[in-house]
Parts: sequence; structure tokens; C-alpha cells
Amino acid sequence: MWLSVPANTDFSIHNLPFGIFHTGDDRARAGIAIGDHIIDLVAAAEAGLFGKIRLFKKVFAQNTLNEFIGMGKSATNRVRRKVQDWLHLPAAPANAARLLIDRRSATMLMPIRIPNYTDFYSSIEHATNVGRMFRPDNPLLPNWRWLPVGYHGRASSIVVSGTPIRRPWGQIVPKGQETPVYAASQQLDFELEMAFVIGKNSELGQPVTVEKADEYIFGLLLFNDWSARDIQRWEYVPLGPFLGKNFGSSVSPWIVPLEALKPFRVKGPKQKPAPLEYLQQKGKQQYDIDLEVVITPANSAQETVLSRSNTRHLYWSMAQQLAHHTVNGCNVQVGDLMASGTISGPTPGSYGSLLELSWGGKNPIPLNGAITRTFLEDGDTLTLRAGAEKDGIRVGFGEVSGMILK
Ligand code: MN
Repeated sequence: MWLSVPANTDFSIHNLPFGIFHTGDDRARAGIAIGDHIIDLVAAAEAGLFGKIRLFKKVFAQNTLNEFIGMGKSATNRVRRKVQDWLHLPAAPANAARLLIDRRSATMLMPIRIPNYTDFYSSIEHATNVGRMFRPDNPLLPNWRWLPVGYHGRASSIVVSGTPIRRPWGQIVPKGQETPVYAASQQLDFELEMAFVIGKNSELGQPVTVEKADEYIFGLLLFNDWSARDIQRWEYVPLGPFLGKNFGSSVSPWIVPLEALKPFRVKGPKQKPAPLEYLQQKGKQQYDIDLEVVITPANSAQETVLSRSNTRHLYWSMAQQLAHHTVNGCNVQVGDLMASGTISGPTPGSYGSLLELSWGGKNPIPLNGAITRTFLEDGDTLTLRAGAEKDGIRVGFGEVSGMILK
């Protein structure tokens, strides 16, 4: 490969994630990340890299990837292959300077328009931990091992990494009282999640089977489902999460195509009891992707790692989530986002939320610089990162980051 790419980059030739960016000219367009660069896909289309110059120029000169993703995997995978071929040329091609953009000069935008967003609850460790805080004798509800529990969330407030999050206000019942007050949330939390982007419309009334699920999944990105625990605790019975969740969620700007993750497929946890037939899945259902959560507290430049987890801990797979979501005939649309739910591992150092890390706020977490946190404070920045490495192949997700504003 003629382009020099740092060894430890998140964006290798194996990865080639898609995003939307501009370079200060308000000309939003699609790109592929490679090392410290972005390949400008409008320029690549103009240079004839993909054939059908007018079509690809139009598809890439947009402020979302929806139309491109909607062309289907034959088109999206072909574009990745053409870019790989171009990067594998024996010497730097004459059009290299025109196609490559320094990543530092680009501003990343929201990569997709999200018609619908669904959040699952698929980590057994997370569900057990949260259940244990509220129902010590019976942490896991009877349905949990039978179906991937989920709820329909709010798409309008999903923002790209770097967007600040304003601390939500709402109804909160102060400790020891029975009636609520209107106040700023005092238990603002993050949730470490991975989300997948739907790449193909399904028909209303036609379920997507576990076997066909991968055809409908375009790619993955990091997802922080910011949560106000005090608002959530008071409102969630009987219909589930509402204002404790819908004030904001953050996504990483680069979508990693599902095909790039194939080397990292692994068997998931054994499912007991065996799920109903429509949820049964053979083979390697999960992905071995390392996850990291770091906090940079207000007025500090020092990061502290709060947690390290892995997507392989998830009990329910993406294919099972999608099969369950559509088993009643519900249809999915290109750009729909489905998030995993908080991904906690089996040890306290691998929990995916402050609710668990501080055990409901009971145990303050020591940070570098002799400060502590139970929940997020104004000015704190929370960042999720993810990557996978095997046999010299490295695939990264970059990061999703957000600062809490008063
Ligand atoms: Mn969540």
C-alpha cells in the first residue's frame, strides 16, 4: 500500500468505515476513513473510481449516507473493494492528492438520518445488576431469557460525537419523600452500547429471520444512551423509559460495515433455556470487540478509565434482536438504529454505566487527580472507544464523546 497508515490506527484497510464530513465549506459529503486521512467519495466518484460517475457523485454529495446504504450491499461492498484496490496500487496514483483529506481538517457530521430508533437490554450482567438494586431476591424478570427485551426510543435527539449534552430537568422524587419536585437531574449517567444501522427496508407483515438478519444490517457504531436515573426511576412504571432517556443519545461518526467485522465473530454465552425456534441461531452469534469508557472530569485534562468491556458478553445477538423486532410483522427502514443496551461484563471493572459502577450512587468512584464521581457533573466529558484486533488485522470504531452542560 502506497499510503502510509499508522500501525495502531482505528481506521485500517480492513476497516474502511463510512461517514459524512465537511471541511469548513458547508459542503457535506461522504467519506471513508483510512489512517489519518479521509477519502473524499465525491472526488473519488468524479475520478471514475466506481464507474457511473453521475450516480455516485449524487449519492455521495449528500448530508446522510441513507441513499448510499439503501443501494444495497452489492453497491456498498463494491465501493469498499474499489477503494481497497486503489489503496493497493503499486505507487501513489496521480489523483491521490485530490481524493485525500487530512482528518484533522474535517468536521464529522451525523452520518445517517434515523427514521426509527430501538434500544434493547441484551446484557445479562447489566440486567442482573440493575435488577439486583431494585429487586434483590429476583433480579432477572421471567421474560428476560425468553426474548430480547427492548423499547422504542426517540430518534430526533440522537446526535453525533462532540455535541454537548444539556443536563435534563424533570420530575424527581427526593430521597425519603413520596411526591416529586421539578429539578435538574442529579443522577445523570452514560450507557456503553453498540448499535447497528439497518441497510435494507423490510416489508410490513414480513418478519426478518435470524438467518437473513445480516442482509439487513449495514454496519455498527458506538452508542452512548445518556440516562437520567432519578427521572427514569419515577416515570418508568408501567410503560418503560421516557424522559429519562429521550433528551439525548450520542453516536460515533464512522459506521463500520458488518463485513469488516467477520474475523471477529465468536460464540456468545450459552442460552438457557433454549430460545423459541424463531430465535434460535447457530454458529458464531457475537463479536469480539473491546470497549472502553473514559471520563475527563470538569476542569481537568486527565482521563480516567472507568470501564473495559467487550461486545462478546451480550446474551442476545443482533440477529436475534432483529428477528424478534420483526416477528410480529413490524417493518424496518434504511437508517433505523438498533442499540444493544448497556454492555456490562462479569467483573465490576467491566460495568457499562455509573449506576452499576457506583452501585446506585453508594460507592464513589475514585478518579485520577484525587476526585470522585458517583454520577456525571457539569463539565464532565465522557468518551466511549472500541476496537478489535486479531492476526494482525485491526478494526477500530474511533470514539463517541460528549460534554455535560449545566
Ligand atoms: Mn440504553
